[in-house]
Amino acid sequence: MEVPNIAACAACRHQRRRCSEECPLARWFPPFDPQRFWRVNKLFGLKNVLRMIEENPGNVEGLMRSLVYEAEARERDPVRGACGVVQTLEQQADQLRTELKLAKEKLKSIQSSTEGECSKLEASPSHCPR
Ligand SMILES: [Zn+2]
Repeated sequence: MEVPNIAACAACRHQRRRCSEECPLARWFPPFDPQRFWRVNKLFGLKNVLRMIEENPGNVEGLMRSLVYEAEARERDPVRGACGVVQTLEQQADQLRTELKLAKEKLKSIQSSTEGECSKLEASPSHCPR
């Protein structure tokens, strides 16, 4: 029987091992993107990644997405990593909450000023802007 010619995933290539269809890392570390493996290996270490996969068989997808994301974030921001992304998003959310609060106050102010005008136009309420 002929063995299918499968390109070794980046993790197996790094270990100089033959990759198989059952390789738990092949999906996450394709041969055409070795940098992804290098980043995760540098931050977590291959043995730890394999141990975490074994310890979390029910959520390998979530685990691997998290490890890859964290490794990429750590490369972009070596000091804050993914925490930096969270902090930036929290700052943006705070800024948007402040803008929303101001917009609501402005809307309330406009509504209360037009209510006075509407009460004058009680005879023809269709002219009310609301
Ligand atoms: Zn592999």
